[in-house]
Amino acid sequence: MGVPLRMKVAMGGYLLKQKLIGRRKYPLVMMLEPLFACNLECAGCGKIQYPTDILRKRLSPEECWQSAEECGAPIVSIAGGEPLAHAEIDKIVEGLIQRKKFVYLCTNAILLEQNIHRFKPSPYLIFSIHLDGLEKTHDRMVCKEGVYKIAVRAIKLAKSKGFCAMTNTTIFNGEDVEEFREFFDTAKELGVDGMMISPGYSYEKAPQQDIFLKREQTKAWFSKALEGWKEKKWPFNHSSFYIEFLEGKKDYDCTAWGNPLRNIFGWQKPCYLMADDGYAVTYKELIETTDWKKYGHKSGNPKCANCMVHVGFEPSAVNDVFDHPLQALKSAMGWRYGVSPQPTNLPPVALKNPSSIKEAAKTA
Ligand code: SF4
Repeated sequence: MGVPLRMKVAMGGYLLKQKLIGRRKYPLVMMLEPLFACNLECAGCGKIQYPTDILRKRLSPEECWQSAEECGAPIVSIAGGEPLAHAEIDKIVEGLIQRKKFVYLCTNAILLEQNIHRFKPSPYLIFSIHLDGLEKTHDRMVCKEGVYKIAVRAIKLAKSKGFCAMTNTTIFNGEDVEEFREFFDTAKELGVDGMMISPGYSYEKAPQQDIFLKREQTKAWFSKALEGWKEKKWPFNHSSFYIEFLEGKKDYDCTAWGNPLRNIFGWQKPCYLMADDGYAVTYKELIETTDWKKYGHKSGNPKCANCMVHVGFEPSAVNDVFDHPLQALKSAMGWRYGVSPQPTNLPPVALKNPSSIKEAAKTA
């Protein structure tokens, strides 16, 4: 696993503390969206469809730090929008690191080369670079040619300067299993410190709706694509239990409160993925006023029916690891659980043409 050792130790200590004090709902990773504006318009993104006045809004560094302090999660994952389009992103990151938060800075990397001098290498900072497959597939998914090459260059640059760099990959309907196995080899050869993968969530606002995997398709796809991943030494930045969940070997319900989201509207109920169920003003209000029973695929909520996204289910897997350490150790050592992969035959998708960059991103 490519997660810095310091982060693993801190997370272990934090989890132990939560268990010892008997806290029932605690955050593992705070998601932070300090802006929605982006310099891309990806086919599977539900965040860039807001009107221009919303896309112009920014969270201030002080709002970001105050939210991280109130929430208390040991890790903050900054997404968006494109975080590097925020004029004060370096200040936000620096302030979070001063507060001993581990920071994932999620970026499409287009602005990384020209902005990398604004950051200092730190065991608390990880550049999480968006790569949805090999060149043709990634450029198709971000609806712009040339972005794959920029992202690969940015990974090499970040590594050469001593930064921790990981890939962040979303899988959509119709993706070729063999291509992605080659992609995982390629990312490993690039020397990334970790690889994050997740099926896409079917955002209602996303411009294309036929690109999202249903639950059974997700399990079938991952069980083939990840076959032998331990022997391949692909450095996934996930608990092995979450990988087994994706492969259909484990069944969890979601732990939506594990990765709470703060964005320009407030604290989003119940999770990063669902934008229509309201916002809380404070983290405390989010935890106390959200009707958590209404969410998760076992709840019968149709919006959750096909969701297997890491923000909801990695916290479930991490809690399971913590509750069953011996089983987790066996899994991490390569002992497998006997569930056969299902066959899959998924149709290819035809994506729309790239459209112009949002005006609002230019104002950052
Ligand atoms: S299953 Fe959980 S993470 Fe997924 S959309 Fe529903 S509440 Fe959010």
